[in-house]
Amino acid sequence: MSGTAIIIVAAGRGTRAGGEPKQWRMLSGQSVLARTVAAFRGAGRIIVVLHPDDMARGIAEFAGRATLVAGGETRFESVKNALETIDANEISQVLIHDGARPMVSAAVIARVTAALETATAAAPALGVTDALWTGADAKVTGLQPRDGLFRAQTPQGFRFPAILDAHRAHPGGAADDVEVALAAGLDVAIVEGDEENIKLTWPGDFARAERMLGTGMDIRTGNGYDVHAFTDGDHVMLCGVRVPHAKALLGHSDADVGMHALTDAIYGALAEGDIGRHFPPSDPQWKGAASHIFLAHAAEMARDNGYRITNADVTLVCERPKIGPHAHEMASELARIIGVGRDRISVKATTSERLGFTGREEGIAALATVTLMKP
Ligand code: MG
Repeated sequence: MSGTAIIIVAAGRGTRAGGEPKQWRMLSGQSVLARTVAAFRGAGRIIVVLHPDDMARGIAEFAGRATLVAGGETRFESVKNALETIDANEISQVLIHDGARPMVSAAVIARVTAALETATAAAPALGVTDALWTGADAKVTGLQPRDGLFRAQTPQGFRFPAILDAHRAHPGGAADDVEVALAAGLDVAIVEGDEENIKLTWPGDFARAERMLGTGMDIRTGNGYDVHAFTDGDHVMLCGVRVPHAKALLGHSDADVGMHALTDAIYGALAEGDIGRHFPPSDPQWKGAASHIFLAHAAEMARDNGYRITNADVTLVCERPKIGPHAHEMASELARIIGVGRDRISVKATTSERLGFTGREEGIAALATVTLMKP
């Protein structure tokens, strides 16, 4: 009875990272969970705890490589379900690991396993190096001493009979298995964790993991085109700048045709549709909305997906008003809204030689091209 079992907990429905549950999201061509399972290859018998709805998918991905167990309502119950399937005649120690930590290294696993030769329980953690504050309403309200504080990671390792007894005695609701062990009076040894052993939770975590894997390089281009017709008025909004004119532009928001084209270019590069998909014209809350809300949303979506906007080029097509005197201010305003340097944004203009609807001064057209890059 000297075997090791690895329980990988992946029954959550966490979607804070956007889209489907994070353990099933793709990370450089492989699901997060497949990477996590692969990280423990050779370390012992692998048990994957899945949401009951995911069992078929689990069989397809892990048949022959892992035993699958249906999870419970909470993480605590999921781990307990897995522990109850283990035969104490075969297994002497268990490592319990978050399915959403695919970057765990062999060194961390080895440190936990080595510590279990003398300890009943052992878990990786990192000291806190940043200063810690308390805060409320976006203000610092106090300082928190960081001495003796650790950031907990997994795998958390235990002698099997001890953690099984601890789980059976626990009332439930524990956040992790160290908490269960402490409640049972077990000593838990701390071993050194790893900064790269991150738990994928937020959209930015996926981008970070892809950078670590060195496979995240991705360059994308998007284009946008928009037209708004003239109506009566005394100014137009173009690329966030109010330009006096003998007419206004007609539209469901402030009709900022340049900003709309740029916003659509960013959505396009992300393969995320267009403004109408994110801010439906049929929804009264967006009627009259300032266009910078749309642009800021698209830029934030790019950042959340791990991209930075490397440059954008906007062309306004009109006979009048004259754009040249305002072009610098327009580019500065666009740069400010999307959070990039002014030297990465171009706004220029052309007439259409009096041809077509722009030539007849019936409206203004705008084209935009944007490049996004990851990492
Ligand atoms: Mg528009």
